[in-house]
Amino acid sequence: MKKLLLLLLFAGLLNTGSVFGWGREGHETIAKIAERNLTKKAKKRIEKYLGGHSIVYFAKWMDEYRHTPEYKFTNNWHTAPVNAELRYEDSMLAKNGNAIYGLEQAIENLKNYRSLTDSAVEVNLKYIIHLVGDMHCPAHIKYTTHDMKYDVLFEDKYHKPHKFPIHSVWDNEIITTTRIWSVSEWADELDRLPKAERQAVAAGTPRDWLHDNAVVCEAQFEWAKPGQRLGQDFLNEALPLIERQIRNAGYRLARVLNELFG
Ligand SMILES: [Zn+2]
Repeated sequence: MKKLLLLLLFAGLLNTGSVFGWGREGHETIAKIAERNLTKKAKKRIEKYLGGHSIVYFAKWMDEYRHTPEYKFTNNWHTAPVNAELRYEDSMLAKNGNAIYGLEQAIENLKNYRSLTDSAVEVNLKYIIHLVGDMHCPAHIKYTTHDMKYDVLFEDKYHKPHKFPIHSVWDNEIITTTRIWSVSEWADELDRLPKAERQAVAAGTPRDWLHDNAVVCEAQFEWAKPGQRLGQDFLNEALPLIERQIRNAGYRLARVLNELFG
């Protein structure tokens, strides 16, 4: 019994911990926005490989399987490192990989998806759906020029402060305290850019997107300093940034998938 309690406690710690990327809401809303922007042909082909499910259904799959023996090798793929110029830090790629490494590899693999087995197509799709999301999360851009491991006092809706690692504030807390919508409702609110702007957002490569993300998200270190108490003023700054990131990730994910399967 004691063992079980400890285990549950540990699992609880992991859930609020710093390793999972966007929470469910973030990942699934990104996938929902992407789904709304898929061509009919791409959507149909992709869902065939996903056992009839939509891309939303598997948006969090990589987080759920990263600790299994089979997918342990993807455990470090959830963050994307940038150098002092805020560009992809290739040298940190090492042997463990990162979000850009995993994403580029999966895109390359799927360029010939017709020559792959169905299960290879399926797993590479799951990588792309998730990793485009993670590289847009402010806490998952790994700045070599900033310390990213610190705690803040985040206020709940009753303005009561709670100690959180800043990482989980960006991954989960901002979203879960402000946007109690379904994934479809949130996607419907965010997916409203005119076509020309959507195309401009989705242009370029994953490395270009990472640079754009790193430039825009650097404000996070101004808005939330170590030990700082974060209330409504912080939310008023942070939420528009998060919604921009989720929307852009959705458009970029749609473009990648349309190019591969459209
Ligand atoms: Zn992740």
